[in-house]
Amino acid sequence: MPSSPGTERLFLALWPDGAVREAVRRAAAEAVRAARGRPVPPDNLHLTLLFLGAVPPAVREALAARLAAVRCAPFELVLDRIGGFPRSRVAWIAPSRPPAALHRLVGQLRAAAEEAGLAPERRPFSPHLTLVRKARPVPAQVLARPVRWGVRRFWLVRSQTLPDGARYTPLRAWPLAAEAGAAPDPTPV
Ligand code: ATP
Ligand code: MG
Repeated sequence: MPSSPGTERLFLALWPDGAVREAVRRAAAEAVRAARGRPVPPDNLHLTLLFLGAVPPAVREALAARLAAVRCAPFELVLDRIGGFPRSRVAWIAPSRPPAALHRLVGQLRAAAEEAGLAPERRPFSPHLTLVRKARPVPAQVLARPVRWGVRRFWLVRSQTLPDGARYTPLRAWPLAAEAGAAPDPTPV
């Protein structure tokens, strides 16, 4: 497919810090072993919010302007489930009860992408971090000690396919800023 110079494969994601990466690595170590397959290197772990595909530079500029206007309160993700998608043969870690703010954020990102002229896929959002590709089916597991991830920003990430696998480069982040007039999510007790 012809593409204009500077076009890059991009997606929007939550990008864990080192402490969360390490906590995920520990929590998932046993499941990752059991799944065999190709483990995602810890530095590549992420939660995809919206896959954008090939984005030309001018569209990226328009998108950046829209993303700066996104308003969503910071939230906490409790990664408490390990499981797999048998059809795509991945094993993942995920929140069993994602906060409403996460779904509101994705709704706003989708709108921003559409306003910038992109046509992101409409498949339902299923928040997860892929742990292993080409995985054997892993038994569903609820973690007694879930990983708590305080999410403060979202990222625009470049994806490159290299001979030794995917390389992701976080390009730019926008902070999650409180929604004016919105009630905070109730804190579970
Ligand atoms: P590769 O495609 O090289 O095997 P990858 O799937 O990790 O590696 P990308 O295809 O660039 O790399 O995907 C980047 C991120 O977006 C990944 O988290 C991937 O699961 C997700 N993703 C890719 N395509 C889609 C899609 N059509 N819809 C939703 N998410 C997608
Ligand atoms: Mg892919």
